[in-house]
Amino acid sequence: MTKSIVTRFAPSPTGYLHIGGARTALFSWLYAKGHGGKMLLRIEDTDRARSTDEAVGALIDGLEWLGLNWDGEPISQFARAERHKEVAEALVAAGKAYYCYATPEELTEMREKAMAEGRPPRYDGRWRDRDASEAPEGVAPAIRLKAPVEGETIIEDKVQGTIKFPNKDLDDLVLLRSDGTPTYMLAVVVDDHDMEVTHIIRGDDHLTNAARQALIYAALDWDIPVMAHIPLIYGPDGKKLSKRHGALGAEQYRAMGYLPAAMRNYLARLGWSHGDEEIFSTDQMIEWFDFDAIGKSPSRFDFVKLENLNGHYMRTSADEELLDAFKVYLPHAEGGADVLAWLGEGDNEKMFLAALPGLKERAKTLVELQESARYLWAQRPLDLDEKATKLLDDASKAMLGRLLPNFEALEEWTAESTDAAVRTFAEAEELKLGKVAQPLRAALTGRGTSPGIFDVLEVLGKAESIARIADQSA
Ligand code: GLU
Repeated sequence: MTKSIVTRFAPSPTGYLHIGGARTALFSWLYAKGHGGKMLLRIEDTDRARSTDEAVGALIDGLEWLGLNWDGEPISQFARAERHKEVAEALVAAGKAYYCYATPEELTEMREKAMAEGRPPRYDGRWRDRDASEAPEGVAPAIRLKAPVEGETIIEDKVQGTIKFPNKDLDDLVLLRSDGTPTYMLAVVVDDHDMEVTHIIRGDDHLTNAARQALIYAALDWDIPVMAHIPLIYGPDGKKLSKRHGALGAEQYRAMGYLPAAMRNYLARLGWSHGDEEIFSTDQMIEWFDFDAIGKSPSRFDFVKLENLNGHYMRTSADEELLDAFKVYLPHAEGGADVLAWLGEGDNEKMFLAALPGLKERAKTLVELQESARYLWAQRPLDLDEKATKLLDDASKAMLGRLLPNFEALEEWTAESTDAAVRTFAEAEELKLGKVAQPLRAALTGRGTSPGIFDVLEVLGKAESIARIADQSA
């Protein structure tokens, strides 16, 4: 029977889910989903100072927002420290690891000597073959792996191919520190084994760790999971990703008004491809995702591409879906709480939905949607932006005053009926349509630009439209 697929996402809490982590999680999730498997979540919380509830909460919040659900409860690495210790001690008992009593001073000396001789700093194996009876009094020992000194360790990586590491470069690494705490290297191996992980997908900055971990697997006689080390994400200029380039947390992307589905699509394409296709549904990604189409070179993060893709998702989202995403975004947006409260009142949500088809055509992000929909919840008398103020000069105010009775006379209030009324009025006044429409827009929205003005009139309704025009007419 073939083993069922288990992947895992194993973030260290840093206070946010950064973009590289989000992509690693996505790839692990896609692979598990596509193979009827599970994705587990392990929080690598052994650094107690950084592993606050908030930092763990931020990771979970980011994953939930992206829609990357994991199976079972999140596993705390720290909580498994006893198990890690037990494994280290079992390795000593089996003669695969040993107690090392070297003092910090000795280790420093070793490092300095190696550096002075131009060698990489390596532990010299001084306790490797010594008898425990030689142990100095009062020194707590660390446990080190008795690593092979000759030959090489080979990693068959699904992305990087066959990578060979000479064993002389991988020294007798510490498994358990002298204070009894496990090292990261040991904890990862024991956890992945105990969680029955079959596939490890992570950034290629862990490639050397993979070789060291392979030695631990070998000593324990455990099967090594399939490994896929994915190239890191760089900025558009090919340099290390900086904040300006997009090295931000998931919650910042949420506040910038990106949709989770667009983020998933964008992140999937960051390092993985399927022919020339750029736009995938999540189901298609799940079906098509595989290791052979992951590129070997670093991918470049490009905000312009992300924004365009997000615009596509905005335009093609069903109105109700977009409304839901808008509501998820609002608590994190500037002024969003007021908008959320407005949506909850009376028929406002209906009004927003009626305006949405026109609004979503133009907005690339939810921030832009919020901005262009502002006229809906703007309070009378409206604040005018600079362009609107200019448009509403005395002549225009007088013109709007003459237009008003035409609107008041309308029995049916739709985009078509108001359009016809404005055309008739413009003809009678011998004005170009724009000369009427522009000041009208300014009066109705307080802005120089807005969605189609007749849609705005219909959405606002007769009473509110007439009141706003009256506010600005003379
Ligand atoms: N905790 C590690 C990190 O955040 C990942 C370890 C792993 O995936 O093996 O980079």
